[in-house]
Amino acid sequence: MRRIVAAGLLFALVVWTSCAFAETTIYYQAEGMQEKKIAITVDDCIYASGLNSILDMAQEYGMSITFFPNGQNMRDNPEVFQRMVAEGHEIANHCQNHRNLLRKTDEVIARQLHQMEITTQEVLGFPYKITMMRPPFGNGAYRTSPSYIAEQIGKAGYEYIIMWSIDSTREKTVLSRVEPGSILLFHSDKQDVACLREVLPLLVEQGYEFVTVSELLGIPGCAPVPEEEWANYPLGSTTTYVTWGETTKLHLGTDPKQTVITTLSKGTEIEVLRMENDWAHVLYEGKVYYCAAGALRKK
Ligand SMILES: [Zn+2]
Repeated sequence: MRRIVAAGLLFALVVWTSCAFAETTIYYQAEGMQEKKIAITVDDCIYASGLNSILDMAQEYGMSITFFPNGQNMRDNPEVFQRMVAEGHEIANHCQNHRNLLRKTDEVIARQLHQMEITTQEVLGFPYKITMMRPPFGNGAYRTSPSYIAEQIGKAGYEYIIMWSIDSTREKTVLSRVEPGSILLFHSDKQDVACLREVLPLLVEQGYEFVTVSELLGIPGCAPVPEEEWANYPLGSTTTYVTWGETTKLHLGTDPKQTVITTLSKGTEIEVLRMENDWAHVLYEGKVYYCAAGALRKK
């Protein structure tokens, strides 16, 4: 596809890096931070009124927030998610349906992540790059040993799993535990909004600054895709391609060693959602998969 300029070493490097799947790092907070910076995160994002209240507070206190919505909660209230992005907050991945990823197949895990990405693009009305995820219920990201889930999350393209260091809607608990680098977990429920209303001015008084998770951790953030790259992210529609390789394998993610869902023979028509580097996000029997972009030609 876009390999015209790639040659020799550069070509080898591009192919190598795009084939390697992401090694995931699990963060609970920014360790050893000196500056008084913390990150407020809001999960699930069910209630538009609660989210709007939180966004109002963010304006008042000059905060940037990282939201982890479920895709299924985004379609009902697109305006509030558009507002988040317009006001400089981050939207990260918390799966499409809040499925507990424990004991799920690699296919289910990948689909939960990819469908949430597609929903985000549809709801915002433009392509949006998501770099971080938080597993529903926090299940599967363990401090001690990298889990099967964390490995599958990496294979689905996510390098950063974001947990939290404080999960409380009690003002006292939040204030006694907070320290530079803390990641605080909230939801859009009434009690969470009430707790934020109480606790934010006190944290400001203590000299805390509220930044997004990616800024806190110094990792790539979630953000709209630059307009010059939009052509690679066809919106709300697909483009028909035809396989031209003798056989084209559909994978769950951008790792050639990953489970092969099916092998298509030469000349098969396939709907492409978007092209990203060397990989095509394709729709096959209503589900999202990946295949090597080089194996496809536009119809
Ligand atoms: Zn959740």
